Amino acid sequence: MTDFRVGQGFDVHRLVPERKLILCGVEIPYELGLLGHSDADVAIHALIDALLGALALGDIGEIFPDNEARWKGADSTKLLQMVLQLPAFKEWKISNVDITIVAQRPKLASYKKIMQQRMAEVMALEPERISIKATTTEKLGFTGRGEGIAATAAAALVK
Ligand code: MG
Repeated sequence: MTDFRVGQGFDVHRLVPERKLILCGVEIPYELGLLGHSDADVAIHALIDALLGALALGDIGEIFPDNEARWKGADSTKLLQMVLQLPAFKEWKISNVDITIVAQRPKLASYKKIMQQRMAEVMALEPERISIKATTTEKLGFTGRGEGIAATAAAALVK
């Protein structure tokens, strides 16, 4: 039997004025953006945790501490590439990843394809192996009130 691993990740960032909204490495036009030490790309952060989780490598905060100046304003696509270059990933291939972005606004449907293409580029993977989904929480909770955006991700790795 082929050895395989599965990981899952979750992240939340707050929406605030005067920040860019970057999801899956794509800048989305919106009057608010996500607050964070890095570019606060909540979808990529959830994905990084899914990838780290698959190999039991800890979480994103252990690898990129948010009190370290060198990660301030960091481009999360670069952080993702750094994670994939960790020695532990050498013998593994990403079978697929599946990301769900939870946002009441802005409407993300028209950006899913662009995000998929961008993630395919960043991860050097076929787009068919990358699923980007978007949902709302029916106006319930912090995402429903537009106070923040959440993301979950799953990743499957094969040897
Ligand atoms: Mg984060």
